[in-house]
Amino acid sequence: MVVARTPCPECGQDWVHPYRFTDDGSRFYLCTECDSLWWPDQSIGVDRPAPVDEVVAERLNIIGNPWVDRVWADVMEPAPKTN
Ligand SMILES: [Zn+2]
Repeated sequence: MVVARTPCPECGQDWVHPYRFTDDGSRFYLCTECDSLWWPDQSIGVDRPAPVDEVVAERLNIIGNPWVDRVWADVMEPAPKTN
């Protein structure tokens, strides 16, 4: 669970934002500064985040850098505040 405006515990440079994948709408939390990703069942500041590159690569069955021929907006978007 994430309260409004949770600072990123990894880099301290940004808030953790609610995001979702555009293909199936599954939600997650993302620091757009250091690319740390948390799933909704994880506790920010307690659970270690996953690197967004790794999550997206795995999701799309890509080996290596998933951003060679796509950008963030192709796979994810900021999620609305209410579901
Ligand atoms: Zn961060």
